Amino acid sequence: MPGTEEIAEEPAPMMSTFDLFLLSALIGFVVYWFFFRKDEKPNDEEFKRLSVVQPTLNRSESEDSGIVFRMKKSGRSIAIFYGSQTGTAEEFATRLAKDAQRYGMKALAVDPEECNMEELAELHQIENSLAIFCMATYGEGDPTDNAQDFYDWLQQGDTQLDGLKFAVFGLGNKTYEHYNSTGIYVDKRLEELGAERVYEIGLGDDDTNIEEDFVTWKEGLWPTVCEKFGIEVSKQEGSFRSYSFTKYEPDDIDEKTVYSGEVARLHSYKNQRPPYDAKNPYLSPVLVNRELHKGGGRSCMHIEFDITDTKIRYEAGDHVAVYPTNDVTMVEKIAKRLDVDLDTFFTLDAIDEDASKRHPFPCPTTFRTALLHYLDISSPLRTNVLSEFVEYTSDEKDKEFLTLLSSPTPEGKKKYQEWVMDARRNLLAILDDVPSCNPAMDHICELLPHLQARYYSIASSPKMHPTSIHICAVLVEYDTSSGRTNLGVATNWLKTKIPVPGSEAFVQPRVPIYVRKSQFRLPFKVSHPVMMVGPGTGLAPFIGFIQDRAYHKEAGKDVGKTTLYFGCRKREEDFIYEEHLTKWKEDDVLTELKIAFSRDGPKKVYVQHLLAENKQSVWENIQNHGHIYVCGDARHMAREVHDAIVDIVVECGGKSQQQATDFVKGLMNKGRYSADVWS
Ligand code: NAP
Repeated sequence: MPGTEEIAEEPAPMMSTFDLFLLSALIGFVVYWFFFRKDEKPNDEEFKRLSVVQPTLNRSESEDSGIVFRMKKSGRSIAIFYGSQTGTAEEFATRLAKDAQRYGMKALAVDPEECNMEELAELHQIENSLAIFCMATYGEGDPTDNAQDFYDWLQQGDTQLDGLKFAVFGLGNKTYEHYNSTGIYVDKRLEELGAERVYEIGLGDDDTNIEEDFVTWKEGLWPTVCEKFGIEVSKQEGSFRSYSFTKYEPDDIDEKTVYSGEVARLHSYKNQRPPYDAKNPYLSPVLVNRELHKGGGRSCMHIEFDITDTKIRYEAGDHVAVYPTNDVTMVEKIAKRLDVDLDTFFTLDAIDEDASKRHPFPCPTTFRTALLHYLDISSPLRTNVLSEFVEYTSDEKDKEFLTLLSSPTPEGKKKYQEWVMDARRNLLAILDDVPSCNPAMDHICELLPHLQARYYSIASSPKMHPTSIHICAVLVEYDTSSGRTNLGVATNWLKTKIPVPGSEAFVQPRVPIYVRKSQFRLPFKVSHPVMMVGPGTGLAPFIGFIQDRAYHKEAGKDVGKTTLYFGCRKREEDFIYEEHLTKWKEDDVLTELKIAFSRDGPKKVYVQHLLAENKQSVWENIQNHGHIYVCGDARHMAREVHDAIVDIVVECGGKSQQQATDFVKGLMNKGRYSADVWS
């Protein structure tokens, strides 16, 4: 029988049963890997740090796309890296790249997150090469998200950088303790690794006039660089455009391809898909928007954002970012002043095909969208913008004035400080006050910095409010010395986001948000004492903290002493969350509640005065493993609270001033003294 024959002649099997088992297991694993694993990724991706792990490029890939290859190919010798969180460092890097062009060199602005920074070791292969770093410091002395991996690499690595020439400009704020620590570290570390500093570090202070610090630094940088490379120092004035402008007639463009304010993905606000993050914010319905102040002429809003079914998670102490929209009236006034049709469709394309960005913001779009969603039209204009405006100005006197404002001379800097910075003159104010200046709108779109998300301390705990995120914010509005009233972009926009429940036709107002993780955290052990100091809206994160403690208390846990020091002007006006705080005190969720009403009595009383009055209790808290938290104004309050605590350590702990300062520093290093402050 053929069958029998076949059986008789069957060769020895190529695989044993065990091999077959292994093979099927392998195939099963591969199928699982490709088809199912992605879906099982943790759903809380949005809670990771916003940095992206730097890819370790393999050599064959990197050679064609690497920074050195790109620079060689396009005849560039200068790479300008930026560590940017709010866009200023990136803007400065772009300006330096333009400057290089004026001095007859070619440069490229580069996001360190988008290239293999190990290539720094090879940059010296390019003749007269230079690496410039514009590094912002952020949070508690941290690098920005996009510079985190570069920073880690510098710290951990020992790649020798002999032959690399570099210069660093740091961006920071003097009101914060770790002033410019990232820039300073990068400058020091590059030298340790063998690189040659060609120009001393520049430190920009955002608390005073960072524009002036930057201009002063770069005015010294370029002549030094030219001298170093044997290039004749001659600066070409006039305009250098980075983007070419294309205008579309309505019939020539498919409106489905036009951006209408999305941060990155086209139609992302219509087709919302998690995970939500900085590039893909969630358009959150506003559930509540109510006034917290009872009088006094100021306004403070309590706002609740709905995050039901979004997979967005947060912790008490995190921040929520809000993408605001500019004031419609201001946009219309700018358009009217410049006689521009806001509904013009256009694209700005990078002229340089090696530029790291094809467009300055999502394109194609309209002037209306660009001015409403993508451009910062409210900040005082930078000197480079004023300088570019000169050529659009017809009157000789106006021309001279703009030239003076943008010149790096002592007289020019003084005038710029007074007339632009102190008077907070923005685009519209300058167009109004310099009547013969008529810049092209597409050039304005290229020059203005980008509108940034605003961060608010979250005023809720997910334990009590898993499906909503709460904030409180004071409406920003102030009069300027030029007789204008300036409005805060985000708070004045949020003010209009009032839900009207009950109506079927009602369209709930929505706000683009995402959550940013913070280091501001309650102690791991709920039994440890917690002391919170937060005057004004500095109370916000503590509302979340107290809710957390209340939750644990209700669950029968042994919750440690919880103390709050709050301060406001007048009990009858701005004692925000009064009912909640009083109730928590009654329920013993708050063991101690100390309130400084600064304007109710004959003399000012601040939180730090109450700390001093209660020094024994503060000292006991510290001794009992207590954690101290401070939130609010960085410039004065946080410093004075710090000093008050040092004084308490001196008095109650019997230490010298220096020992007490070191002791408090030790608490900070151990995470037992944390600050969430702004200036
Ligand atoms: P606030 O009402 O201005 O002040 C709260 C209390 O702190 C007042 O009693 C004030 O007293 C007192 N105070 C003033 N100087 C102090 C000092 N050196 N030490 C201790 N206490 C001091 O506070 P706010 O409502 O939170 O202020 C809002 C401002 O913060 C707005 O302008 C807003 O732009 C800004 N801001 C808020 C955020 C946020 O996330 N919430 C972020 C950035 C900026 P006196 O006024 O009587 O002296």
